[in-house]
Amino acid sequence: MTSVVKSSNLGYPRLGEHREWKKLLESYWQGKINEKQFSETSKSLRLENLKKQIEFGIDIIPVADNSNYDHVLDTTAAFNLIPTRFGNYKRPLTLDEYYAVARGDKDNVAADMTKWFNINYHYTVPEFDNTEPRLLENRWLKYWQEAKNELGIDGKPVIVGPVTLIKLGKLNGEYVESEKDINQLLDQILPLYGQVFEELQNAGVKWVQLDEPTLVKTEKDDDIKPYYRATKYLHEVAPKLNIELQTYFDSIDPYQKVVKLPVQAIGLDFVHGKGENLNNIRQFGFPDDKILVAGLIDGHNIWVANLQEKASLAEELHTFAPKLWLQPSNSLLHVPITKKFETKASPELFGGLAFADEKLQELVSLTKKLNGNDVSAEFIKNADDIKALNDSQARNNKNVQEAIKHLSKEHFERHSKYSERSKKQQDNLHLPLLPTTTIGSFPQSSEVRAKRAAWRKGDLSDKQYNDFIASETKRWIQLQEDIDLDVLVHGEFERTDMVEYFGQKLAGFFATQNGWVQSYGSRGVRPPVIFGDVAYTEPITVKESAFAQAQTSKPVKGMLTAPLTIINWSFVRDDISRATVQNQIALALRQEVINLEKAGIKIIQVDEPALREGLPLKQRNWQNYLDEAIYSFKITTTGVRDETQIHTHMCYSDFEDIISTISGLDADVISIETSRSHGEIISAFEDAQYDKQIGLGVYDIHSPRIPSVKEITDNIRRGLKVIDHKQFWVNPDCGLKTRNEEQTLEALKNLEEARNIVLAEL
Ligand code: GLN
Ligand code: ZN
Repeated sequence: MTSVVKSSNLGYPRLGEHREWKKLLESYWQGKINEKQFSETSKSLRLENLKKQIEFGIDIIPVADNSNYDHVLDTTAAFNLIPTRFGNYKRPLTLDEYYAVARGDKDNVAADMTKWFNINYHYTVPEFDNTEPRLLENRWLKYWQEAKNELGIDGKPVIVGPVTLIKLGKLNGEYVESEKDINQLLDQILPLYGQVFEELQNAGVKWVQLDEPTLVKTEKDDDIKPYYRATKYLHEVAPKLNIELQTYFDSIDPYQKVVKLPVQAIGLDFVHGKGENLNNIRQFGFPDDKILVAGLIDGHNIWVANLQEKASLAEELHTFAPKLWLQPSNSLLHVPITKKFETKASPELFGGLAFADEKLQELVSLTKKLNGNDVSAEFIKNADDIKALNDSQARNNKNVQEAIKHLSKEHFERHSKYSERSKKQQDNLHLPLLPTTTIGSFPQSSEVRAKRAAWRKGDLSDKQYNDFIASETKRWIQLQEDIDLDVLVHGEFERTDMVEYFGQKLAGFFATQNGWVQSYGSRGVRPPVIFGDVAYTEPITVKESAFAQAQTSKPVKGMLTAPLTIINWSFVRDDISRATVQNQIALALRQEVINLEKAGIKIIQVDEPALREGLPLKQRNWQNYLDEAIYSFKITTTGVRDETQIHTHMCYSDFEDIISTISGLDADVISIETSRSHGEIISAFEDAQYDKQIGLGVYDIHSPRIPSVKEITDNIRRGLKVIDHKQFWVNPDCGLKTRNEEQTLEALKNLEEARNIVLAEL
């Protein structure tokens, strides 16, 4: 007997339709409202979010997915697992104490923050050293009760699972990995989860959503043990409380073990993960006594789902799992809230968009369909919308599609080998040994930001704004000359952001008016939407670079963002492969690179900061991803003459994993953000016998402190122990746009002096 199919959600965006939540947090931080006002407003926002889900007709509504900053921090704060430098509590933290952990206070730096799996949300990293775990507050019960009392709903509290919490945290500075450490930490924190579950059960809560997304990273059967231990324990402590064990962002490898865990429902992602979850169900079936919670609607992209296809998939799943719930693939936290404000989108694009609210409505239609209701009107409209977008001119640019078909060897090989090119480049550039440069941006002062805002509002004409940008560029060229840096940059004053700016100049991109997504804390980003074939319509940076070059006889580096980074920080159309979109961008940028060269730019840097962070969750999928990155980088950069020097730049450490990719890019010079992990990176390059040129960030720009000449000299000498001085460049880390002018200039003077000292020793 099959039962009724239900619709369920696993998390709703926090920001608010008009970013009310962001404004609330910031007003509180600025002291404009007090704690009482804060809690009243946040309660009404919470209830608004729940009411919408009730109105849409979602059967199982998540509660306690709200947060004052981040859900991982909420969990550690509830369990007194916050870093001990912020205190050891016996009562719930006040708001100020909580924000001190998130943002730092006058005595302590904030807890670390890092990427939530492979998406652009950042969580607060737990530090388990010396903590004394105890339950300070059962926030899950609190918000369940609130939803029940205020709105009469029996919500599903969402909680970060114990094993995931542990694996996302650090012990003695390292991420927790070993079975022994995991077990020791489970000894300490499982009883607290037990207490939470018992209280939920006693209050009459029926379902809890236990998020264990780290399960998608377990590739060996043995890795499943701690999840077994945790779920068994929790089930025994609160046998009447039903557990929905939730996974997302990829498929499950130890499928047969996972479906046997002692829980009542299993949430699997049927959008991401190459169809492996579906294959497993087809091959191994699904246990009769459990509910399958099928993640069908893409929770981290913004396109309408093809309802007909989703319904067929759901019907097939239903034959394996008589008890079925339908869900988004992951929390809707990672998409904007509603498309209703996107009035600037063309009708075809608008019809194809589905943000959180539209996704929930799709889910309800699908659920109705599976329960035998007539939803033909919705399904017809859906098919029409998809067809209109696919048939639109934007998606049918014959030139771009032909160019992709005709990609050939000439598009991804430079004319000559590095050893030949490098000689010609040296004849062209006449650089000294240990050349000095920066990574691209200079301080975006309050004046720069104010002028841009005024221009956007229409208070400043295009000419006034462009003149201002030009004067700022000119001033900074002079400042760089005064310091005597060898390779100058124009300073990136024209851009707010390294992706948005390119989106504005290329066909196929749409900038949303209100498509905000939480990146961390109160910070939202508005990723560009790549909806059509990407085409080069006008020069992007040529004018700015050529202007800067005209001010000096030293080489000025052109500055572009590489295709993969553009893709990783955008919402990408899903009707063609990501690799194809990436190559379309690459072909467009290739023209820009050629145009820069024609305009007299001798060095062009193509930034790929997001290469590492976008790595797939499963190692076996890395190679393909990296190969595609190399391919598109080469399409972008290989159209130039041997004499033109191509640079690339990457952020973050852990380069051991991708060193062969770095070589594969065939860039003449790479600069890497390293000052915080110098040792490891140097040894990675040593082992790889890297033969091209490298700039290692010789000081950390993230602190306002000015690095001394000695400190920088030491860092350069350290690098020179393993990297030949003929290959070595001297530069700071990336991100100078976040420093002020005085700090930047002082630090760069010291950098130049340090280089001269080391140069004299050679
Ligand atoms: N060119 C950019 C800058 O200097 C690179 C930014 C980055 O690495 N994230 O700011
Ligand atoms: Zn960087």
